[in-house]
Amino acid sequence: MQTAVQLDHDHVWHPFTQQRDWVSEQPQMIVRALGTELIDSEGNRYLDGVSSLWCNVHGHRHPVIDQAVRDQLERVAHSTMLGLSHPGAAELAYRLAEIAPPGLERVFYSDSGSTAAEVALKMAFQYWQHRGGQHVRRTSFVCLQDAYHGDTIGAVSVGGIDLFHKAFGPLLFRAHQALSGDIDDMERVLQTHEEELAAVIVEPLVQGAAGIITHPPGYLRAVRELCDRHGVLLICDEVATGFGRTGTMFACEQEGVSPDLMCLGKGLTGGYMPLAATLSTEKIYAAFLGEHEDQRTFFHGHTYTGNPLACAAALGCLDVFEMERTLVRLRPKIRLLTEMLRAVESMPEVAEVRQRGFMVGIDLSEQDPTLRMGHRVVHEARERGVIIRPLGDTVVLMPPLSISKVDLRRLVEVTTQSIRAAQPVTKLDPAAAGRAQAALLEAA
Ligand SMILES: *Cc1c(COP(=O)(O)O)cnc(C)c1O
Repeated sequence: MQTAVQLDHDHVWHPFTQQRDWVSEQPQMIVRALGTELIDSEGNRYLDGVSSLWCNVHGHRHPVIDQAVRDQLERVAHSTMLGLSHPGAAELAYRLAEIAPPGLERVFYSDSGSTAAEVALKMAFQYWQHRGGQHVRRTSFVCLQDAYHGDTIGAVSVGGIDLFHKAFGPLLFRAHQALSGDIDDMERVLQTHEEELAAVIVEPLVQGAAGIITHPPGYLRAVRELCDRHGVLLICDEVATGFGRTGTMFACEQEGVSPDLMCLGKGLTGGYMPLAATLSTEKIYAAFLGEHEDQRTFFHGHTYTGNPLACAAALGCLDVFEMERTLVRLRPKIRLLTEMLRAVESMPEVAEVRQRGFMVGIDLSEQDPTLRMGHRVVHEARERGVIIRPLGDTVVLMPPLSISKVDLRRLVEVTTQSIRAAQPVTKLDPAAAGRAQAALLEAA
């Protein structure tokens, strides 16, 4: 394994990672996993507290999904969706349309959450071009403050997280930003720019990458109504919230909302394969129909779009939802999590806890970013056999839906211990103490 570590250090460039820090530490190599446990090359076992970056649903090595992929492997691993099709893609599209909010009938495949968002943006834009007349002026988008829709340029253009997005400013198209969860501000933006707007894009109920920011009840429903009133399309990015994360199959369901376009990714394959989908209404789809020379075709498609192995995993994932009644069995676990989080919220080291289903954000009280408190907590958790990953100074818990109550308890207990253990050290941090003293002197 030493050679693998060396090769990683010498050749791999990791995502969202300061490589100088990375190469100064021994990376953990995950070599196996089972259920909610990850196993590293030293044989250490860890609870997968963030579902391998928010995408695992039914646990690792689930026999049904494993078998579905294996069976597909014996037929064909990849063929193309450009000019050909395959049964898995067709069946999956049918089943997604069945479980999606009413009206979403068409499924356009891609291979990551970012591309699902890109596809939705391009579809919305081109929809209005195809509608013609004064609609061709509908070329811009409304997004939310602190929004996250992926890392490709279009997705970043409708993103609002300065840390990730600011550096790329000159490359982006301009989008209008509305304050998150503030329906009056959304109304103001829609009123001001109505005639030039193609669509509003939101993460429904919860803005994940922003730090698990939850919207007030009724907000999504109200955004839908505003979009209808102003004739603007609504794109719901369910890449993080989809597949049971918030307690229902899709977050939109909780407010009885059907978007015009919906983005799926992450949990779509149960966390097995890169696959994404953009679902659209027949109305949008129909605007793209015409004679070949009309050029109404949606000119977009990725090489591995609708990959058969990935579709097989997604079908297996949907089967498990039915066989194990995952959403029904999730309810008591969500309640248990809510109960346990009450104790976390009362800790002096914690400023706020936000929860929607199995999405949890714990804001730490210590606000000095140079202390990297989130990072410290995660480090402590790892020593205690739990893998979590922070968003700045927000500790995120996002376990697989299949986690047992025992492991769920352990996840929250270890998180609590880790938050405590991360603290005292910082109080003795000489740099922080120095800054505090300087501030005092200045005030005096
Ligand atoms: C993770 C995420 C994306 C991007 O998905 P990738 O597969 O990482 O490209 C898009 N939207 C939301 C809401 C996400 O949480």
